[in-house]
Amino acid sequence: MRILGIEGTAWAASAAVFETDDPDALRSGTERTPDPSADHVFIESDPYQPDSGGIHPREAAEHMGTAVPEVVETALAHAAERHDGDGPVVDGVAFSRGPGLGPCLRIVGTAARSVAQTLDVPLLGVNHMVAHLEIGRYQSGFDSPVCLNASGANAHLLGYHNGRYRVLGETMDTGVGNAIDKFTRHVGWTHPGGPKVEAAAEDGDYVELPYVVKGMDFSFSGIMSAAKDEADADTPVPDICAGLQETIFAMLTEVAERALSLTGTDELVLGGGVGQNARLREMLAEMCDQRGAKFHAPEPRFLRDNAGMIAVLGARMLAAGDTLAVEESTVDPNFRPDQVDVTWRGADES
Ligand code: ATP
Repeated sequence: MRILGIEGTAWAASAAVFETDDPDALRSGTERTPDPSADHVFIESDPYQPDSGGIHPREAAEHMGTAVPEVVETALAHAAERHDGDGPVVDGVAFSRGPGLGPCLRIVGTAARSVAQTLDVPLLGVNHMVAHLEIGRYQSGFDSPVCLNASGANAHLLGYHNGRYRVLGETMDTGVGNAIDKFTRHVGWTHPGGPKVEAAAEDGDYVELPYVVKGMDFSFSGIMSAAKDEADADTPVPDICAGLQETIFAMLTEVAERALSLTGTDELVLGGGVGQNARLREMLAEMCDQRGAKFHAPEPRFLRDNAGMIAVLGARMLAAGDTLAVEESTVDPNFRPDQVDVTWRGADES
């Protein structure tokens, strides 16, 4: 089975080709052979880089308008090289249906529909946040992990129950990456701010900032206001960065541990672009180690937005017969992970 994936929820115009010799293994979450998949997934991405400020939806959509056709063309050329000559070059077209920026999603949806109809292959509508989870689950071979999605526009914990991924806890305001990016814009750094905070924190001394966890939910707005106030009061920015990392990641680690404890699960996967941060991974790994749980963080190219994870989940959906009619394939900027019927996991799983 060979699947084309298309991603473009915000900043990454990305297309991928996922190929598996064993589609039957994808039908079952428990019987599949875990595969690091790096050699089986081809990804071509073209990021949108704002000249100044954060991601501007209109500019991002303009970027998608030119970059999506280009990355799709490259991915399809790759698929054609691997094709043996019979039938269409891919067996299905998976695309990010949401959540994300509406103007960007509409371009991705249009591209996916046109390729699927041209090749006469099924369309697969993928929830971007569930894809962040499933790439970690697929790579790790974990059975039923809790997932911490720490991305730009989102921050939540997911756990599987009764046919859906339930939101166990989530941010009460902004996504974690967006919160960090707001602080870095305040101090005049270009987008994205997360990697710059990570680098600066290495030379910083911890500054105390508000720590806000309410049960399984958490909030970043107070921390960000306090961090901006510290910058305005001339506290060295590397010190604030060290305080931001320790505070925010401790909050995420606390709720991840609570989710493991409440669900009785001993498997944690990490998803999302903020997961590229080594300090966050270290804190989560240490917490899992202390409670005897397993932890998996995909490699960076599968953490940040990418079409590889869309193609991998699309393959599982196709194996489960979970295809999408073109006339029902509208995108949904507010598509929540708990709206998705998880058709690709065994019916007997709870
Ligand atoms: P979503 O998946 O919610 O749509 P997104 O489209 O914003 O999120 P991602 O690629 O998941 O994109 O994450 C991008 C975010 O990751 C940005 O906010 C960026 O600052 C942050 N980020 C990237 N690298 C790091 C890092 N090393 N440390 C902390 N944050 C990082």
